[in-house]
Amino acid sequence: MIRPVDARFVTTAVAPEGYPAPGPPEFAFVGRSNVGKSSMINALAGRRRLVRVSNTPGRTRTLNFFDVELDRKGERRTVRLADLPGYGFARVQKAERATWDRMITAYLAGRRELRGVVSIVDAEVGPTPDDVRTLGYLTTLGRPVLVVATKLDRLAKARRRPRLGAIAAELQLPPDRVVGFSATEKTGVTEVCQALWELSDGSSSSVDPGRAPGR
Ligand code: GDP
Repeated sequence: MIRPVDARFVTTAVAPEGYPAPGPPEFAFVGRSNVGKSSMINALAGRRRLVRVSNTPGRTRTLNFFDVELDRKGERRTVRLADLPGYGFARVQKAERATWDRMITAYLAGRRELRGVVSIVDAEVGPTPDDVRTLGYLTTLGRPVLVVATKLDRLAKARRRPRLGAIAAELQLPPDRVVGFSATEKTGVTEVCQALWELSDGSSSSVDPGRAPGR
């Protein structure tokens, strides 16, 4: 059993100068606006309001760093979660989109401490064209990518596994490669924590890093 035991906000940044000094292994969280990223980070941190949950899509325009201490059978380890601005908000202007691209690509391509990327899709909606494009980009980075489908609670229990398999198929991944998640039901918290734990020490038994869509 693995679980979060402590969490704290580290800092906010818009450019590399603002990134925190090297510390715990880092994991980036990416997804379109309103996909449920803030709620996921709160659930992984075991907190209700570490990250503000937004009803205003597209509001977050910064990279926010959080340290989460995990406990696995008495062994403790800290991982640093990087909450990246959400993409794909329709009302965002072209110039702003370019700023977003620069901000996140600078981090994803350049950050030495980054051990993996959690790519979030909506379990009910499935991968959007923006999700597919972003995953394609993540693949080119050669970083481990974990695809997590959230808001799983919106699907009847019997539909969940087939739906995750269908999402995996759409992304050209093996059927069991998409992790189901629900912030409201706390489904998938253990699985994602476990994946971060394993990636943080370089082992890859459950997430098979390096395999991403299209390969
Ligand atoms: P973000 O913009 O990606 O950070 O998304 P938020 O975490 O702010 O969530 C956007 C909306 O989706 C909010 O109204 C949340 O309450 C809702 N939401 C987030 N996660 C879940 C979930 O697991 N299940 C359900 N049913 N709603 C969720």
